[in-house]
Amino acid sequence: MLETSHSPQSAAPMPPPAGSDDALRELTAETLAPLTASIDREGVYPEGFLRAAGRLGAFNRHLPSQSQDGGMDLPGAIRAMETISAECMTTGFAAWCQDACAWYIEHSGSDTLKREVLPRLARGEALGGTALSNPMKWFAGIEDLKLVADRVQGGYVVNGRLPWVSNLGPDHYFGAIFRVRGSDRPVMALINCADPGFALTQCPAFTALEGSRTYGCHFDQVFVPDEHVLADPLPEYIQRIRPGFVLLQMGMGLGLIDGCINVMRDANETLSHVNCYLDDQVAELEEGLVDARQACYHLAADPMDGSDGFFSDVLQLRLAGSEMALKASQSAMLHAGARGYLANAPAQRKLRESYFVAIVTPAIKHLRKELARLHAN
Ligand SMILES: Cc1cc2nc3c(=O)[nH]c(=O)nc-3n(C[C@H](O)[C@H](O)[C@H](O)COP(=O)(O)OP(=O)(O)OC[C@H]3O[C@@H](n4cnc5c(N)ncnc54)[C@H](O)[C@@H]3O)c2cc1C
Repeated sequence: MLETSHSPQSAAPMPPPAGSDDALRELTAETLAPLTASIDREGVYPEGFLRAAGRLGAFNRHLPSQSQDGGMDLPGAIRAMETISAECMTTGFAAWCQDACAWYIEHSGSDTLKREVLPRLARGEALGGTALSNPMKWFAGIEDLKLVADRVQGGYVVNGRLPWVSNLGPDHYFGAIFRVRGSDRPVMALINCADPGFALTQCPAFTALEGSRTYGCHFDQVFVPDEHVLADPLPEYIQRIRPGFVLLQMGMGLGLIDGCINVMRDANETLSHVNCYLDDQVAELEEGLVDARQACYHLAADPMDGSDGFFSDVLQLRLAGSEMALKASQSAMLHAGARGYLANAPAQRKLRESYFVAIVTPAIKHLRKELARLHAN
């Protein structure tokens, strides 16, 4: 059992899968699985799948204003991402981008964005992402803010460049943070890629996540109206949204681990007589996955706790998820052997994807830095 100070007292049973989970599993098997290799190797962006998943309710569960019962089912949103990531973690990451973008608006004070953008994001009619790696590293004292803005009548004019933002397209949205010149105050706003002065720039080819529509973002005098401001002042807002932001990422890691266990099971159908000599076995990884899921769903049941103690537990879990993803993908590769080394094989793809769980912000090194700071207080 993964121990956190917020661990459940007794082993609570895992929530039963909802009907919409079955529909998403079916959609994933029928329409995503045939595309997975081309998403990975040719950079095909799974836009049709994302829109269909949105119609099935994969992106509204964590949004009380958009969910069917008005509740905040963050564990449900994580489970949906797990289902997608177990098949294709690139698509699971795009789902996380979508969920995070909508999460920002749900907790913002902008009635305009809640009325005009949020319902479309929640249903997958509009697609979006998040440019918060740089600001999260800025909060942790790792790097400077890359976007700067001037205050003008009715809004801000933003300039600067961000190297990597995913799930973008000509009319996609994303959340970004800029520093206001003069006051040095950070402000968070929603950007539309169609805004005048904004340009997407092509990234060099990646070793994984190629189909995640990751671009460089170039801001040249981009006007952001006050109605598109998500948070100002920022600190209290960030404290509220950060546990959900990080917990949602667990959907990628847990799904990937599940997918690796499936690869190991398949390999064992013919190779169990020799695979049994490997270090990390199916049963052991499965036990770790059940524990991690339970700890994750427990923390996600009440994600608006802004305390450092709660956030420390969330970061600890996220770190354990990264380490477990690396372990599971290595084991999947070793179980699969030569067939896992083929260019279309799931084992080598999952190995490359697992490193993304470990380097996407907050990366393992960032998590350890933050945990050291929180534990020193
Ligand atoms: C495929 C992919 C998708 C991503 N999607 C997003 C996203 O949607 N939103 C988001 O905010 N971040 C995104 N990132 C960034 C990611 O979250 C991390 O910030 C990034 O991987 C670096 O994290 P790090 O802590 O290891 O920093 P380090 O690797 O230690 O880098 C330190 C700094 O140098 C910059 N840097 C390093 N190499 C380069 C380079 N070749 N070109 C430009 N800058 C460089 C990094 O951006 C960072 O600011 C993505 C990265 C990748 C590889």
